[in-house]
Amino acid sequence: MTYSLTSEQIAFQDMLRRVARERVAPRANEIDRTDEYPHDMFELLKELDLFALPFSEEFGGTGSMLSACLAVEELNRVCYATPYLLVMQWVPCEALQAAGNEEQKKRFLPRLCSGELRAAFSLTEPQSGSDVSGIKTRAVRVDGGYRINGAKIWCTNSNMADFVLVAAKVYRDSDQPVGINLFIIEKNTPGFTVGPKEDKMGARGMASCPLFLDDVFVPDANRLGPEGNEGFKSVMESLALGRPIISARAVGLAQGAIDHAVEFVKSRFAFGQNVSDFQGIRWMLADMQMQTEAARQMVYRNASMIDQGASGLELASMSAMTKAFSTDVAMKVATDAVQLFGAAGISNEYPINRYFRNAKVLQIVEGTNQIQRNIIADNLLGRTSRKNRTGAPPAP
Ligand SMILES: Cc1cc2nc3c(=O)[nH]c(=O)nc-3n(C[C@H](O)[C@H](O)[C@H](O)COP(=O)(O)OP(=O)(O)OC[C@H]3O[C@@H](n4cnc5c(N)ncnc54)[C@H](O)[C@@H]3O)c2cc1C
Repeated sequence: MTYSLTSEQIAFQDMLRRVARERVAPRANEIDRTDEYPHDMFELLKELDLFALPFSEEFGGTGSMLSACLAVEELNRVCYATPYLLVMQWVPCEALQAAGNEEQKKRFLPRLCSGELRAAFSLTEPQSGSDVSGIKTRAVRVDGGYRINGAKIWCTNSNMADFVLVAAKVYRDSDQPVGINLFIIEKNTPGFTVGPKEDKMGARGMASCPLFLDDVFVPDANRLGPEGNEGFKSVMESLALGRPIISARAVGLAQGAIDHAVEFVKSRFAFGQNVSDFQGIRWMLADMQMQTEAARQMVYRNASMIDQGASGLELASMSAMTKAFSTDVAMKVATDAVQLFGAAGISNEYPINRYFRNAKVLQIVEGTNQIQRNIIADNLLGRTSRKNRTGAPPAP
């Protein structure tokens, strides 16, 4: 499968590079330092009409995963939080598209795609992250809907969200769950509370909060998919399809770290010469760029496979390889960039340690890199049915 960027995509990339440099970069340090939600960046993304980008023309999008990857790459080159706003909008959209009924799609999708509504997605619980089957939140069948009890953690954007998609095990009349379903829980629903945000070393500006569900009544109309695992499975599959997005963010982050490192070594002197003239430094920079370009090629290919309709094991493996490789590259490149700054790399006066802290987040979210390696190995070894080896939640 091959790919090439169309002339529209190249023009789109140029436009975003300019916007990122002129309007996003000047805000990036402040968002990181204050850890405050960047309302102005949300408005900017709305103005650029990016919330619908990967979705069909019906919602104002391009239907192209490659275009979505180009956008997040350019934005992540200068700022972590701004493209995260896009991801926070895209994940619930993908879930609703995969498992929502016509009424739910009509109720939420157009307003999510326009930026009128915001949402969040919640799987992770105190005792289970990678192992989704370990969730304990219970949705018990009652007349007209469900009563939900449980606790979630790390739900990003929940403090801003108009609704949260919450995963719970469904019980009918026995102690055995009939499966996992996602439920649309709208803000201000009685019994539903969003707790105080985590104080995070990275991914700052976007709050990740615990959720408390105390006998929350959710009507049947807010259950995604039929009762049981079917809807949840299609949501998980559709979110896995979106995995090139996080890989593109990693490529953008790595390229941004290189941008800063290049600027620094060109202006720094030691032993009577410019630091960028030391061969050891030049080779470090060359390795950083080689690794980043290799990751970029994987991301563009992975995204193009999706645009060309690939599915199944070939795609799952490619997406897992691309996520693990690109985020490991981002971590390595950001670490080397801090090294090139010397002591300045540790100082908060310089932006480079922001890249280093955020690179670590990318290796953990949307299925940790160990889980990605399990997927790759399972596919190689033909062991895809072993749940403890593959259970990778692509939670944002
Ligand atoms: C910034 C941020 C935002 C997040 N936002 C959200 C969100 O919006 N919604 C949401 O639901 N969750 C969210 N999460 C949670 C995230 O999805 C989980 O942290 C992730 O799935 C890992 O789960 P865990 O932290 O419980 O680690 P665990 O699953 O407890 O894993 C601990 C360690 O064991 C390793 N491990 C686990 N199982 C295996 C295995 N089978 N083989 C090899 N190694 C294994 C892991 O890779 C990891 O290194 C967020 C996390 C962060 C950091």
